[in-house]
Amino acid sequence: MAVGRSDPRYPSLITPWNRRFQGNPQNVHIVQSAQQIAEVLSDAVGAKKRISVRSGGHCFENFTSSPDIQELIDVSQMSDVYYDPKRRAFAVESGATLGQVYNTLVKGWAVTIPGGICPGVGAGGHIAGGGYGFLSRRYGLAADYLYAVEVVIVDKSGRSRIVVATREEGDPNRDLWWAHTGGGGGNFGVVTRYWLRSPGTDSRDPAELLPRVPATMINRTITINWDQLNRASFSKFLRNYCTWFEQNSAPDSRNANLWGGFFAFHQSAGPLGFVVGVDSGVPGAQSLLDAHCEAVMSGVGVQPVADTTDSAPYLDERNWQIEPYARSKDKAANLRRGFSDRQIAAIYRGLTDPEPTNPGACFAMAGYGGKINAVAPGATATADRDSVLRVYITGGRWSSPDEDAKYIKWIREFYRDIYAETGGVPVPNAINAGSYINYPDADLADPAWNKSGTSWAELYYKSNYPRLQRIKKRYDPGNVFRHALSIVPR
Ligand SMILES: Cc1cc2nc3c(=O)[nH]c(=O)nc-3n(C[C@H](O)[C@H](O)[C@H](O)COP(=O)(O)OP(=O)(O)OC[C@H]3O[C@@H](n4cnc5c(N)ncnc54)[C@H](O)[C@@H]3O)c2cc1C
Repeated sequence: MAVGRSDPRYPSLITPWNRRFQGNPQNVHIVQSAQQIAEVLSDAVGAKKRISVRSGGHCFENFTSSPDIQELIDVSQMSDVYYDPKRRAFAVESGATLGQVYNTLVKGWAVTIPGGICPGVGAGGHIAGGGYGFLSRRYGLAADYLYAVEVVIVDKSGRSRIVVATREEGDPNRDLWWAHTGGGGGNFGVVTRYWLRSPGTDSRDPAELLPRVPATMINRTITINWDQLNRASFSKFLRNYCTWFEQNSAPDSRNANLWGGFFAFHQSAGPLGFVVGVDSGVPGAQSLLDAHCEAVMSGVGVQPVADTTDSAPYLDERNWQIEPYARSKDKAANLRRGFSDRQIAAIYRGLTDPEPTNPGACFAMAGYGGKINAVAPGATATADRDSVLRVYITGGRWSSPDEDAKYIKWIREFYRDIYAETGGVPVPNAINAGSYINYPDADLADPAWNKSGTSWAELYYKSNYPRLQRIKKRYDPGNVFRHALSIVPR
C-alpha cells in the first residue's frame, strides 16, 4: 500500500526517532511480503527513483530520511516472530521491534538473544549492524546468532530477486549472510526475515536453540554528585572503571556474566555513576556485583549519594530503556583498554565546561568483550572483537531546531578533544578501536571533523571493509541501497 503526502498517516511514517531528520518521500510503501517488496523495488528502480527502507526508525543519522529519498519502504507491518521447524531456527521478520522479539521468544520458549536495551529499536537495522545489550558479554552479539537471512536484492538489469543466505559452508550465498552479521542496514537489499539459532547447536527442541532467558536480573546503581569530585578523583573513578573492564573481559572470565554501564552527565545538568547487572541465577551473583562496585570506587574517596540494588524479572521495564523521539546528535567509539591520561583530562574538561549545555548531554560507556571477543574478527562482518568497552556520547535530547547548533557544537568539540591525538576520531591503536556502525556518525566521513587520514569505513569495518565492498558489488551492483555511510561497491 502506497501512502502519499496528503494521507493522515504520512507524518507518522516519515518521522524517525531522531527528529532532526524528516524525509519527504513521494510515497511510503507499507509492505506485507517479500513479493510486494520485489514489486515496489522493480518499479522504483525502473523509474530511476531513489529508495530507502525503514524498520524501527531508530537510526542516529538520516539514512532513511535524507531529502533525496523518493520512495520509502516501511517493513514495520512485517513483524512476526515464530519458530520455523524447517530451518530449525527462530524467524524474525525485519519489521519486528526488539520488544516484540524478546516478548515472543521469552513467552513462547524461555529463550532470548543478546540484543539491544531499547525495545523500540527495529530488528531490521539492529541485527544487520551487530546488535549488543546487557547479555552480550555473556553470550555475544545479536548477529552472532544469525543463521540465515532473506533479502530482496536488485540485479544489474534492475530486476529484483528474493535470496535466502545461510551460514552453511556450502551455501553459494554465504557471503550475503556474512555481510548481515555487522555490515549494517541499508546496504545490500531489503531484509525481510532473519533466522536465529545459536552457532553449533542443532537440537530438535526449540528451547535449546537460543540462550535461556534469565529469570530475573539484579542491578546495582551507584550515583555520585559532581560537587563531590575534582579532576583527580574524577580521573581515578574513570580509570578504575576502565581498568576493571581491561582485567575482566576475557571470554571465559566469570565476570563476563556482568554487564555494566557508566554515565556522566554534563556537570551543569546531572549526576554521574555506574550501573552493574547480572542474571540472578549466576552463582554468587550478588558478590560479583559487590566486588565490581568496590573495585570501581576504590581510592576515589567519595561516598555515593545513592547506592541501590534492584531485582527485576527479565521482561520488566526496569531492565530496558524507553527513549522518546527527540532531536539528538550522538557519537561512539570502541576501547581496547582504558583511556590515556590526556584523554581523561579531555573528558573532564568537556563535562565540566562552564558553558551550560543540554540536560541530557552525557558521556557513557558500556561493557563489551567477554563472549563477543571469542569470535575471530573475520568470522563475521563485525571486526571489533578485542575491545573491552564501548563509548557512547550524546549531545542530549531536545525539541527545537533553534537549539541544534549549540548542542551539536558541544558534542563535536568534546569528541574532537578526546581523540585529538588521532585527528579527532578513534583511529585503531593500543587504546582506541574505531566505532560501531549501529551508532553511525556522519562526521566521521567529514574532513572537517576527521583529520586522521583514516577513512570512516576503516573506522567502522577495519580489515573487513574490502570483503564488504566485494559483496556489495555482487549483490547491489547498481548501488540502489545507499546512505551517508553506505558501503561503496568495488
Ligand atoms: C534510543 C536508542 C537506543 C539504542 N540502543 C541500542 C542498544 O542497546 N544496542 C545496540 O546495539 N544498538 C542500539 N541502538 C542503535 C540501533 O541498533 C540502530 O540504530 C539500528 O540500526 C536501528 O534499527 P532500526 O531498524 O530501528 O532503524 P532504521 O532507522 O529503520 O534503520 C537503520 C538502518 O538500517 C536499514 N534498515 C532498516 N530496516 C531494514 C531492512 N528491513 N532491510 C535492510 N535495511 C534495513 C535502514 O535503511 C537504515 O540504514 C539504539 C538506538 C537508539 C535510537
